Amino acid sequence: MRFKNTYPDVIIVGAGITGCATALFLAEAGAKVEVIDSYHPGAMASGWTLAGVRQSGRDPAEMELAKKAVKIWETLDLHLDTMTGYRQTGNLRLARTEDETYVIRNLVNSQAAKGLPIELLDTRQAQQIAPALSDEFLLASWCPTDGHADPLRSVEGFQRAAERLGVTFKINTTVTGIETHMANGCLRFNSIETAKGSFVAGNALLAAGVQTNLLLGGLGVCIPMTTPLVSAFQTVPLTNLLGPVIGVANGDLAIRQQIDGRLRFTGGAEHINANLDLSGEYPAVHPPAASISRVISSVSSVLPFVSQTPIYRIWGGLLDLTPDALPILDGVPSVNGLYIAAGFSGHGFGIAPAVGEVMASKILGKKTSILLDAFSLERFDSQSDSYQKSTPTLHG
Ligand SMILES: Cc1cc2nc3c(=O)[nH]c(=O)nc-3n(C[C@H](O)[C@H](O)[C@H](O)COP(=O)(O)OP(=O)(O)OC[C@H]3O[C@@H](n4cnc5c(N)ncnc54)[C@H](O)[C@@H]3O)c2cc1C
Repeated sequence: MRFKNTYPDVIIVGAGITGCATALFLAEAGAKVEVIDSYHPGAMASGWTLAGVRQSGRDPAEMELAKKAVKIWETLDLHLDTMTGYRQTGNLRLARTEDETYVIRNLVNSQAAKGLPIELLDTRQAQQIAPALSDEFLLASWCPTDGHADPLRSVEGFQRAAERLGVTFKINTTVTGIETHMANGCLRFNSIETAKGSFVAGNALLAAGVQTNLLLGGLGVCIPMTTPLVSAFQTVPLTNLLGPVIGVANGDLAIRQQIDGRLRFTGGAEHINANLDLSGEYPAVHPPAASISRVISSVSSVLPFVSQTPIYRIWGGLLDLTPDALPILDGVPSVNGLYIAAGFSGHGFGIAPAVGEVMASKILGKKTSILLDAFSLERFDSQSDSYQKSTPTLHG
């Protein structure tokens, strides 16, 4: 890598949890880092998220990352010297139909065989863990080492810890382009362009979530990615009702109770034409009424009291969904010094601490603690039909 004294070693575009976690691990390894964001830390998916931290229901390719992330979450408050709100209260995933029972049984069998602590519970056993649940499900998987955290506190925790090590954050600064130059016969990253000027750095990481392709376009690189909408809700604060995160077999509902007592729940990914509204102070996505009523109806069948509970806030989020629902954690093959961490497909919050660690190693040219072959950009070069259907697993 090209170290310069005056310029950052690494410039990171995107102050979501991915960018902030990578910034911290880079700084801990001694790199000089700058993070740039159009808005503020956690302005997009890392603020819209449910913020479940789970291993259960993960694609096998992501399991090592998920397990590593949970190990990091377990001591993250100490590491960041903050309260991320992380609680390891487990994940119950419900089968609400006969068909879903096969999904959950398969999940438990395959993941238990790979050493994840996960078991099958009947309705009564699941209700012992979450007494507020209705009878509208047949069985559930139970993974006690899953959990959840407060998303904005977590992002801010990474940001502040990174700042203490000298990382600088340029907020309200939109990156409009990437400049390259030729070095030893190869294209190499040179600088980031913004309306406030051009910023040279040794390397760049694009952690810009759903907007990553806007940055890559000028280089002729494109991640095959769709951006389905997810509706999200928060109730008023309630008394202690729910310990674990509740998910469902088909991924169209996830529920958790925040540390402040509010229930936070999300629907499934909907492939509808939802745009990012950039006209206000913050980027926003507005879910249609039909999606809102679908989620309210499905949460009420699992937790009946929700139908009578005041809703405090409703918002929408977009997912950076790749064809195989796995992220890209890779260098751009055609541009030395340019890296991507994006395409998290609705489950990038929980694994972010591990992603930050491995991306920092990769950018610094060190051996990564986890093999990243499954997350290469080039896997999409041989686009096959099997890549056409992606099923995001948004289980919290
Ligand atoms: C409703 C919803 C529920 C979810 N639930 C879960 C869950 O339970 N568990 C889980 O693990 N994951 C979940 N996810 C996914 C998870 O939230 C994301 O994968 C994760 O937050 C992605 O973080 P990120 O840092 O990669 O991206 P983001 O948080 O989106 O950050 C990208 C940043 O880049 C900035 N940016 C973009 N373009 C530019 C530019 N040109 N110049 C400067 N800055 C730019 C943006 O302003 C933004 O701050 C959910 C997502 C949604 C939407």
